Amino acid sequence: MKAMLLERAGAPLVAAELPDPVPGPGQLLIRVLACGVCRTDLHIADGELARPKLPLVLGHEVVGEVAALGPGAKRFAIGNRVGVPWLGWTCGACRYCRSGRENLCEQARFTGYDVDGGYAELAVADERYCFALACDATAEAQAPWLCAGLIGYRALKLAGDGVQRLGIYGFGAAAHVVAQVAAAQGREVYAFTRDGDAAAQDFARALGAAWAGPSSARPPVALDAALIFAPVGALVPAALAATARGGCVVCGGIHMSPIPSFDYDLLWGERVLRSVANLTRADAEEFLPLAARIPVTTHTVAYPLAQANEALADLRAGRFSGAAVLIP
Ligand SMILES: [Zn+2]
Ligand SMILES: [Zn+2]
Repeated sequence: MKAMLLERAGAPLVAAELPDPVPGPGQLLIRVLACGVCRTDLHIADGELARPKLPLVLGHEVVGEVAALGPGAKRFAIGNRVGVPWLGWTCGACRYCRSGRENLCEQARFTGYDVDGGYAELAVADERYCFALACDATAEAQAPWLCAGLIGYRALKLAGDGVQRLGIYGFGAAAHVVAQVAAAQGREVYAFTRDGDAAAQDFARALGAAWAGPSSARPPVALDAALIFAPVGALVPAALAATARGGCVVCGGIHMSPIPSFDYDLLWGERVLRSVANLTRADAEEFLPLAARIPVTTHTVAYPLAQANEALADLRAGRFSGAAVLIP
């Protein structure tokens, strides 16, 4: 199969011809129809995350078609459309796994990080961590739901109940999905972008944001909660300053530049600062049907698999709105 391979951090991906993977017990062989490009892929390729397997096939927003079943696999049939998310395996036995927090499992293995992902024509995945997807939307449109959508949804849930005025910092793939979910739930969205990024602000307004402006600005009202998707630590004190007493600021990224020190006044008043890590399968079982029902419209830019490096470079430079998706 053709795959785009990360051989070492800091180097471009290499087009490679690899043996077709063979599904092991309980695994599916999946013909990849589309694979989203996530900011986490950039962090892995740049060496900002500690321990990827190398060489590695990146990609954890995989939409594909079941091509073969490994021994004992029985959840899906050949030809079914499935999605493969970041969470690829958990131990099932630790105190996190046994308390509904498998996203925190210390033994967890992640797709496109500990195991090969979807920047390839074929992938294998543990069927217990795959999700059925309907075929009424295109694979390209569904791919960003598998991480950007799921993490955005989990971040929104962790922001707490009763959030009417929701701030979103960094209006990329996750934000453009969660803004639609929040709007469908009757919340007001306040979108913060890089200073001077008028295109991203227009994009946010087109998706239903009540207000859009630069992240250095104060919104017209105090926020009930804020979600930060940009990997910029300086946004943490900015978001706390824009958030009302009792509000929650959720950091949605897996990596962030250092957070500058700030006055305790910004946290005082029972404001909460927290991160969101990974996803649980329960999150996906809630979010994927919800996304189909709303329906969430993803704005995608398609790249052929061989142009994965261009897709990553465009993501880094903020050259598109929405999400990049590789099409093998
Ligand atoms: Zn565990
Ligand atoms: Zn991701």
